[in-house]
Amino acid sequence: MQLFSYHTHTTFSDGKNSVHEMIEKAIELGWQEMGISDHLIIHKNISNSPSWYKWQKEPDFFYSDFSTYYEKFARHIDEIRLLSEQYPLKVRIGAEVDFFVYPGWLDEFVKLRDKLNLDYCISGNHFLFLDDEGDNIIDFKDAKNLSEEDQKNMIKRHFSALCQASSSNLFDFMAHIDFIRKIPLCSDNDFWDEKNKLIETIASCNGAIEISTKGLRKSNNFYPADSLLKKAVDNNIKFVISDDAHRTSELGYEFDHAEKTLQELNCSNRWKYIEK
Ligand SMILES: [Zn+2]
Ligand SMILES: [Zn+2]
Repeated sequence: MQLFSYHTHTTFSDGKNSVHEMIEKAIELGWQEMGISDHLIIHKNISNSPSWYKWQKEPDFFYSDFSTYYEKFARHIDEIRLLSEQYPLKVRIGAEVDFFVYPGWLDEFVKLRDKLNLDYCISGNHFLFLDDEGDNIIDFKDAKNLSEEDQKNMIKRHFSALCQASSSNLFDFMAHIDFIRKIPLCSDNDFWDEKNKLIETIASCNGAIEISTKGLRKSNNFYPADSLLKKAVDNNIKFVISDDAHRTSELGYEFDHAEKTLQELNCSNRWKYIEK
């Protein structure tokens, strides 16, 4: 059984429990290591998005410039490092990064990551691109109001961005690769050209993905769901079990179920944190 999670959130982003509450729960579960991966969402036009009306209610969560984020996240890291010295388990600090594609984003992100000296990064996209350039983004939920054709184009751009994230080799693993199935047009049966391309890309980069039990909490199925999960295992992609915990009660959530599922698929290629 996997006794760690590297995909967890705290009150620094949208988690409901503090860093120390999450650490204490992990110790209670018998874990000797864990990773904290609060959100890193920085997009130059975030406040121009049609979804801004709801995002602005969470001012500490969405950023339009890298320097403001740096100030805040650097303090968060200092706090975690100081706090974790008091505990017997090893706490690593990462971020769950929304990978944006407009010119300049990647360079700025790499500079920020190096400056923060993060232990690891996860890629996890939560928004859709309204245009090919990636200059404007929209919430998954708001995308449902657009025409079918617009939605299809956005779904294709989404998978293309995930391929770019994987090819960048900047991420230790990729989170919830079919999170987009929240959009009815993109169910388990749809967009297989794009999904196959993504799996091929991840496999060719020797990348890793998570099997996330968050999917069980939200929609009764793992991220990724059945066919995509099997496809990834068949391509010998490395797997890590994640809870995407946003509160202490979600740490280690249904890990035995995820383990059993991976074993039934004969998945033995597992991701493990390697000291850098
Ligand atoms: Zn996520
Ligand atoms: Zn997450």
